[in-house]
Amino acid sequence: MRRPVLAVMCLVALAALVGCGGATAGSPSPAGSSSPAGSSSPAGSPSPTSTPAPHPSATAPPLTTPSAPPAKPKQVVVLDPGHNGGNASHPTEINRPVPAGRGRTKPCNTTGTATNAGYPEHEFTWDVAMRVRDLLTAQGVQVIMTRQDDTGVGPCVDQRAAIGNQSGAAAVVSIHADGSTAASAHGFHVAYSSPPLNDAQGQPSMTLATTMRDKMVAAGFPTSTYIGSNGLSPRDDLGGLNLSERPAVLVECGNMRNATEAAAFTTPAGRQSYAAAIATGILAYLG
Ligand code: ZN
Repeated sequence: MRRPVLAVMCLVALAALVGCGGATAGSPSPAGSSSPAGSSSPAGSPSPTSTPAPHPSATAPPLTTPSAPPAKPKQVVVLDPGHNGGNASHPTEINRPVPAGRGRTKPCNTTGTATNAGYPEHEFTWDVAMRVRDLLTAQGVQVIMTRQDDTGVGPCVDQRAAIGNQSGAAAVVSIHADGSTAASAHGFHVAYSSPPLNDAQGQPSMTLATTMRDKMVAAGFPTSTYIGSNGLSPRDDLGGLNLSERPAVLVECGNMRNATEAAAFTTPAGRQSYAAAIATGILAYLG
């Protein structure tokens, strides 16, 4: 007497479970249409061996029209335009010592350099970064800037690194231009933290650096004649790189004291060409 009752109860429970699963799994109730076909398995599928019953999902026609693949979560890139337009007029804030990694401190920030004609580095880095931002955004990348304009003060190098770390950025790219007094010195270089202080500063940052170097060379920019080797410069003294917990590089686009590069830095078309190369490097790294 008890066993049949239990069996019926189990069947009812099973039916309820199947019903719940089917109802919640797919809104247009795929279970309803596919379960009869699956259980009876009529002609339908020309299964070669016919021993294993075809899974309902293998034979059931799609109930919805094919749509675009699920959107990938946006990758986050932090762009760090070097210096800031208000730094020069705020020496107290800018010279305040802040942690710079490896147990050292450095000034919060610096004023940056300028061309011989007075075009400032902070203006160059801001303009190039905005162009890179636009190019990346057009490709679906979420861009976070370490500063929001070219009239403020700072932020300090440790704050800039924190912005990259807190955002979980896939890549952090600082943009600068150098100020070597040797007028013939020219070419770009990509700096990275060395020796690395964490995993992100190891292979990921090296790959970001070499990818960036390769894309800038491919865009026609010469590697530096006066610092680093083959466009790469390992550094242990750059606070932003030392403090980064994300893959990070610093691109020195060239020498603002070199006449040829200063001319390129000073024109919108020239800045666009640097921005395009940097954006291409970032996108190639993101893959
Ligand atoms: Zn700089």
